[in-house]
Amino acid sequence: MYCESCGSLIPDGQKFCSNCGAEAPHAPAYTYLPVNDSYLSANDSVEVDPRSFRNVSVEVPRSSVVNNTAKIGMIFGIVSMVTIFILYTNIVPAAIGLIFSLKGLKKTKELGGKGMCIAGIILSCAGASYWLLAVIMGLSRLASSIR
Ligand SMILES: [Zn+2]
Repeated sequence: MYCESCGSLIPDGQKFCSNCGAEAPHAPAYTYLPVNDSYLSANDSVEVDPRSFRNVSVEVPRSSVVNNTAKIGMIFGIVSMVTIFILYTNIVPAAIGLIFSLKGLKKTKELGGKGMCIAGIILSCAGASYWLLAVIMGLSRLASSIR
């Protein structure tokens, strides 16, 4: 694509113009792929005229856009749930899950993944709450055994 302020060529993936430093124009959110618009059954034999591809297009979402921070947050949230049975250890994935989910939440405007962030926050908080409960119960048991 080309720089909007000075017109020089900016290579794909580069965020700023190397000539003037202006921000690169945003890439389109969709890639256009040509398809034939007729519906066919499995037994139909088709001869496709390449000229029929000219005017029909379908929108295919870019699969490269992934909110990885949100994804990591959700995965660690799940891990904090799975490790709930290993007493006192699930606070580690819960903390990591919460940190990544909150960080990921800031990127949802451009990368999406809000659902993953919310899931990560809920799971991590649940994991951390269980950990806190286990610690309090462990401490009270310790206190009553000392008495
Ligand atoms: Zn420029």
